[in-house]
Amino acid sequence: MDALQPVRGTRDLVGEDQRRHSHVVDTARRVAGLYGFDEWSTPIFEDTRVFSRSLGETSDVVSKEMYSFTDRGGDGITLRPEGTAGVCRALVSNGLTQSLPQKVFYAGPMFRYERPQKGRYRQFHQIGAELIGPGEPLADAEAITLGRDILRALGIEGQTVLELNTLGDPESRDAWRQALIGYFGEMREQLSEDSRARLERNPLRILDSKSPSDQALVADAPMIEAFLTPAARAFWDGLRSALDSFGVAFRENPRIVRGLDYYSHTAFEFVTDQLGAQGTVLAGGRYDGLVADMGGPPTPAIGWAAGIERLAMLVEGAPAVPVPVAVVPVGEAVLPVAVKLLQALRQGGVRAEMAYRGNLKRRMERANRIGAGFAVILGDAEVERGVVQLKDLGGGGQEEVALDEVATRVAFLLTR
Ligand code: ATP
Ligand code: MG
Repeated sequence: MDALQPVRGTRDLVGEDQRRHSHVVDTARRVAGLYGFDEWSTPIFEDTRVFSRSLGETSDVVSKEMYSFTDRGGDGITLRPEGTAGVCRALVSNGLTQSLPQKVFYAGPMFRYERPQKGRYRQFHQIGAELIGPGEPLADAEAITLGRDILRALGIEGQTVLELNTLGDPESRDAWRQALIGYFGEMREQLSEDSRARLERNPLRILDSKSPSDQALVADAPMIEAFLTPAARAFWDGLRSALDSFGVAFRENPRIVRGLDYYSHTAFEFVTDQLGAQGTVLAGGRYDGLVADMGGPPTPAIGWAAGIERLAMLVEGAPAVPVPVAVVPVGEAVLPVAVKLLQALRQGGVRAEMAYRGNLKRRMERANRIGAGFAVILGDAEVERGVVQLKDLGGGGQEEVALDEVATRVAFLLTR
């Protein structure tokens, strides 16, 4: 029979790939904990309206990237393309809208029907953080600093730059929107087809266009700065001084708009030049309207998500697997003692494996293949005297150790 392949845009995480992936998630979870964030897991599929209501009908995600289907019961279901909408839905479903703030960390797979390439997959994974409740710029700065500290803990902060923008409040944005419609309307014919469709419904989206010809036109488009209301300007000033307090360096980039509709005020991206076109590694913003979209009360919130695959490509390598110890029984009679010893080692926190088959030579080959640091060799003669031979596979030495002291001795030697 033909060998079946993984679906286009999906990949298996095996060996080093999975170790890097876990390292990213473990590191992020630990740092998020230091900031007082608790982990939530929401379902991988949701009622399609969770996303269609909130991300915006004209967003790339909703208009062409969602994995949506009708299930056997006739319900419209979508594999989650991102995490924030589900977290806000869960906040409301679990009756937590009056228990604020909620500080949520999550990690898991997301699904988007995109053209697969390096750093872009159809099933990919994100870590994310949502700070729900606080409406002041200090909260935005704290959420951004958490992202920075995760990059720092992964050793990749130096490969990234934080780009920062404001999208203003709804009033500022409406004025800006009108100016953009006027500006792009003049050059309608030169716009890409996608952007022409965006012109009336969502001109901000044109600023995020990936088409090179659009990007040339975007260069001279009006910027939000000129349209900020006094309140929106105060927020923007507050954000920048709060980031200074946290010691976070940033570069202002008036072109950052983010791909989803729910953002206001803060928009930011940590970008890198090491991953070609897929340069955004961690991105987010303020989304004060989203909880209300899910049927809850108006609730301010700020959050971000980062692509684990992209982070994993930047990290130097996963932490090494602990060096194992091989238990090598010689002859069938000593097997029960060998099994007890194997379990004692594991109980003592030592990674231990037993070579099951073959003569002594074969079993020692197996010990070397798994990269064992030590081999614990025991035959009839040893068991009779209550000892084992402990062989250092790196240094080459060998010592005799009492059976009931092996676990402690090995644990000691491994931490030297
Ligand atoms: P992009 O501009 O690269 O398409 P986006 O604006 O669609 O990104 P977000 O929705 O903000 O991305 O998701 C946050 C992060 O998730 C991205 O910065 C990226 O690291 C990662 N990401 C998004 N889509 C994919 C994908 N298809 N494959 C791998 N990672 C992804
Ligand atoms: Mg995208």
